[in-house]
Amino acid sequence: METKDILLELRTKHGLSQDELAEKVFVTRQAVSRWETGDTVPNTETLKHLSQLFDVTINTLLGSPLRLYCECCGMPLKDVDISHEKDGAFNEKYCRWCYADGGFTMDFWKQYGVTAGKERFDAFKQQLVHEFNALLCAEGLPEVEDLNVLSGDYINLEYRLPSGEKVKFLDDNASYLGNQLEGRNGRCFGIAGNMDFLLICSYAEDGREPVLVMYKKR
Ligand SMILES: [Zn+2]
Repeated sequence: METKDILLELRTKHGLSQDELAEKVFVTRQAVSRWETGDTVPNTETLKHLSQLFDVTINTLLGSPLRLYCECCGMPLKDVDISHEKDGAFNEKYCRWCYADGGFTMDFWKQYGVTAGKERFDAFKQQLVHEFNALLCAEGLPEVEDLNVLSGDYINLEYRLPSGEKVKFLDDNASYLGNQLEGRNGRCFGIAGNMDFLLICSYAEDGREPVLVMYKKR
């Protein structure tokens, strides 16, 4: 789609008149009208305002000329996956699992700060795969081939200890490297790790009846 059609669609989807949109992004109604006829394209500053207002990236406003990939983990980025800065603006370099609120989410990236990049990430991931497979092999479990960046709130299962106490091991607001392995009798194995530890668990469908298999400091 072209920018003029995208802007028209977003404006009508948000129930705004040309006047109302113009006011929100500090331009004249005539300017909005010219965008929608394709006579002009919003300038950089206005594209930023439109991006924040409609919660879509500038890349999307311009008709998605670039295929975006997270510079940390390499995942292809759709608008819903893209990270935000503290002020709510998109940061199109990273996915929201790797980067949030102006900072890197995993200890790994915090440690390396802005020099974190795909090469370092891949090296770290390979190291974790290697360590996980040593543990999985010792437990007689299937090997893992790759790890994905997973959000803590998505995989933070609650385990019941023999004492009856319930515990969680992860931080809902952090990201981890992990994966799911096929198990037996309808149960799966889940693995998750970061700079500090490796965790292996098993669970039934949808994470029900979780059992902690192993939690190991690195
Ligand atoms: Zn990422």
